[in-house]
Amino acid sequence: MDYQKFFADKVGALKAEGRYRVFADLERDAGNYPMATNHRNPGETDVTVWCSNDYLGMGQNSIVLEAMHEALDKSGAGAGGTRNIAGTNHYHVLLENELANLHQCEAALIFTSGYVANLTTLSTIGAMLPGCVIVSDALNHNSMIAGIRHSQAEKKIFAHNDMADLRKKLEEIETGRPIMIAFESVYSMDGDIAPIEEILDIADEFGALTFIDEVHAVGLYGQNGAGVAEREDLMDRIDIIQGTLAKGFGVVGGYIAGSAALCDFIRSYGDGFIFSTAIPPAVAAGALASVRYVRTHNDLRIAHQERAARLKRRLTEEGIPVMPSVSHIVPVLVADPRLCKEASDTLLYQHNIYVQPINYPTVPRGTERLRFTPTPLHNDAVMEEMIAALCKVWAELGLRAAA
Ligand SMILES: *Cc1c(COP(=O)(O)O)cnc(C)c1O
Repeated sequence: MDYQKFFADKVGALKAEGRYRVFADLERDAGNYPMATNHRNPGETDVTVWCSNDYLGMGQNSIVLEAMHEALDKSGAGAGGTRNIAGTNHYHVLLENELANLHQCEAALIFTSGYVANLTTLSTIGAMLPGCVIVSDALNHNSMIAGIRHSQAEKKIFAHNDMADLRKKLEEIETGRPIMIAFESVYSMDGDIAPIEEILDIADEFGALTFIDEVHAVGLYGQNGAGVAEREDLMDRIDIIQGTLAKGFGVVGGYIAGSAALCDFIRSYGDGFIFSTAIPPAVAAGALASVRYVRTHNDLRIAHQERAARLKRRLTEEGIPVMPSVSHIVPVLVADPRLCKEASDTLLYQHNIYVQPINYPTVPRGTERLRFTPTPLHNDAVMEEMIAALCKVWAELGLRAAA
């Protein structure tokens, strides 16, 4: 078999469909976010980044950077091992304590990424709870799906945020079997939010464990930035809260928070936790500084929400089809993969505005979109500049108007 031809043909198929991915080659400019240098552009121009998940600009926060510099100088580059074999540094312990405290849980456990946190936790619980059924929202993130698959537990998928369907799926399960309901709070492509309280009520009725992915909410919602469950005063009713240190907290790494027994169980049986080198001490120190900072800076969350609300309002005023979103995420519908890429390319190469096209399989075919993530650092001037460019591109390409 011509293996190389096989690989090239597979990629060719993506190109034919207009959803081949080209990465922007950016150089982030700490202190100057949301500006970055685009190394792909001839002449290396500055671009305004409109699609980063560094939602609060914590990736350039001076307190975070100082903490990282200090830990780097004190402890060096890498952790030196897995958590079990020489890799647990004091910063990891402090960070886990801080995260447990943030979520008002007994314990927390950090992973190399949010992806690994989901994969490991869901697969370990699903594989080890005898006869477990995992009931999963249809729009759950790929990392949760991967964990559920890997567990080989029976799974049932309920229609997105549909409580009648959730109940129906639970009623199909023989009584006595252990159940885990897995869902997200903020769904990052549409910007909608799960009816968490209703899910928890139903879970109580059926005696199910609850697993929530708050990746797009930690740092951003609730008085302390613990997420939507904090905002809605529901944290103590959730068994497993999963989050990332990479988005609102601006660094990298993932975690779960829950009971001491649960965290000890995953620590002891979770392959993705056990068999991978711990995050570098400097990363843990940066994440720790970031969590502490974000907890006490509600002003950041207020500014973040205000920016998102303003962008939605302004785009609506201009007749741009903003998809309904109740969160900080501002998706704009293009509904065609080629046009979506062309709009993104035109914004980047002619207007120095960077917003990545979002195509299948990240979103369903026919719902291709541009996904804007305004931060407290996107000021009015930067916003108006982007909107003017977007309107121009919209007219030039004859893109769909708001319904
Ligand atoms: C990004 C993301 C993850 C993975 O988190 P990382 O820390 O980036 O690995 C998990 N869940 C959801 C919903 C995400 O969007």
